[in-house]
Amino acid sequence: MSFENWAAFAAASTILLVIPGPTILLVVSYALGQGWRTALPMAVGVALGDFTAMTLSMLGIGALLAASATVFTVLKVIGACYLIYLGVKLFRAGGALKAEPRTDAVSAAKMMAHAWLVTALNPKSITFFVAFLPQFLDRHADFWPQMLIFETTFLALAFANAFGYALIAARARNVVRNPKAIRIFNRTGGTLLVGAGIAGLSTAWSLVKAGHSVSIVEQGPIPNPLAASGDHHRIIRRAYRAGTGYGRLITEAYDAWDEMWADLGESHLDARGFLCISREPGDEAEEYREGLEEGNFPFELLDPAAAVERWPFLEPGSFRYAYFSTEGGALHCRRIASGLSAWLRANGANVYEHSKVVEVDAEAGRITLAGGETMQADRIVVTAGAWVLKLFPELGGELKTYRTALAYVEPPADLRVAWETAPVILDVGGVTDGYMIPLTRGAGMKFGSGLHKVPTSDADRNRAPVPGEGEVIRNLFSPPIARIAEYRVTEVVTCAYTFTADEKFLAHERGKCLVVSACSGHGYKFGAAVGRRVAKAVGDGDVGGLKKWLRAEVA
Ligand SMILES: Cc1cc2nc3c(=O)[nH]c(=O)nc-3n(C[C@H](O)[C@H](O)[C@H](O)COP(=O)(O)OP(=O)(O)OC[C@H]3O[C@@H](n4cnc5c(N)ncnc54)[C@H](O)[C@@H]3O)c2cc1C
Repeated sequence: MSFENWAAFAAASTILLVIPGPTILLVVSYALGQGWRTALPMAVGVALGDFTAMTLSMLGIGALLAASATVFTVLKVIGACYLIYLGVKLFRAGGALKAEPRTDAVSAAKMMAHAWLVTALNPKSITFFVAFLPQFLDRHADFWPQMLIFETTFLALAFANAFGYALIAARARNVVRNPKAIRIFNRTGGTLLVGAGIAGLSTAWSLVKAGHSVSIVEQGPIPNPLAASGDHHRIIRRAYRAGTGYGRLITEAYDAWDEMWADLGESHLDARGFLCISREPGDEAEEYREGLEEGNFPFELLDPAAAVERWPFLEPGSFRYAYFSTEGGALHCRRIASGLSAWLRANGANVYEHSKVVEVDAEAGRITLAGGETMQADRIVVTAGAWVLKLFPELGGELKTYRTALAYVEPPADLRVAWETAPVILDVGGVTDGYMIPLTRGAGMKFGSGLHKVPTSDADRNRAPVPGEGEVIRNLFSPPIARIAEYRVTEVVTCAYTFTADEKFLAHERGKCLVVSACSGHGYKFGAAVGRRVAKAVGDGDVGGLKKWLRAEVA
């Protein structure tokens, strides 16, 4: 075979392969639905399918060639006419590729088999090869070497083409996140999560790991700065009041985060420990100390002089004692959200941002988006944070919504080093209900106080900070923080969150829908563990067990 003949065959094959047919439609559908991991099995399946169809065609053509040169020439002419007919048909069709994402959870082997079947058993494949191959066969040359060269060339090109289409579609899927952009499919199957705060993202993570087909729908971006999980950081700490049970759950919380860091490839926990400062007998700092003692959790007790020497930002003489525990730190929420969202996309979940759910039909397992599109699932998990009452007003008796704000500050220059190495401050004592996160990993330092929270009827109301609000929050921290006026407010972040009366977490089941609210102002630290527990309940149906765990009523 001449090089020119081979080059013409390769060029024609490339053009024909690039034009999308049923095989490419399938490849793109899987990649849109489940990402780049579909590329290899689909490309192998397509190559195997083409190999099957091509070998059958070649054997038929070979037999014809051996029987009669005239019949072969007739076949060649008919084949050429058929190819022209196909070209005209394609031109008229306009070349649009209408692929819908496939989200059904299937193994790589099944995907490969599917691609093989669609490619090999498509009668058009065989007809096509019978028409196409004679155009390049030299009937005077040896048949078998030609067959080998044509098949090898075509299969290599078919593999590369399918692989390329899958990668491009997977990338498009990551870029185009709006369900209006990727046409909404009527049935997702699997589990649909409403709300991509830490509870939703972690549940999705754990469900994907358990092999579920998962879609997650978020009304804003991920992370959403208006969500409770959308701030820069949150505190994790062992200390809880005696008798609540949550102190013991911290062991599981750490274990779940460790599992998540392993999957994300990096840890977003700055484990710098926590500090509490007691200013009055029986204040919250003292209650936390009693909780640590009840659980036999270790901590280091410091008198005021020793504490001020170690942490020079404290006001001497303004507190009774301080204590430090290594079991605490700052969780970097925005990095966790971005990491989880990327992990979910890479592992086959559908992640939709800027997609607000306006209605949940719990019995039918259907949600409606603001644009009118509907999505259907076997199970719906609602983790909508402070917005949950808009979808489930029946929970208004158990959940109350609050608005609060946090002040980000720049500390005085001479105290900067002290704050860069300081533990998180869980409680500043007295009635302030105040906590501080020092300078950590490039995120700002912040002050927050339970005194600042006010009830609200709508999580979207009053979300712009009021002038001077940051300074009001900051000033609550003196004492025990010295030189408070020198802390310059750089940013004020408003938040909305829900509380139950006893500050425990809750789950509520209706029809195919499971509503989870793990907040009450302290839920972030349990985020990864909540995700694992909710995913387990979705898998085994033990919602009763989940409720007990959420209330920390487990041994
Ligand atoms: C000021 C403050 C300080 C806190 N400090 C701590 C702390 O130090 N440590 C700690 O452990 N916890 C803390 N918490 C609690 C913690 O932030 C929450 O428990 C946790 O972030 C709740 O996560 P979530 O996923 O349940 O809700 P959210 O983070 O609110 O997420 C809900 C998501 O659902 C989306 N959503 C809502 N409605 C819809 C809809 N209709 N359609 C689509 N999407 C929707 C929202 O946009 C949002 O992204 C604090 C909370 C606040 C407000």
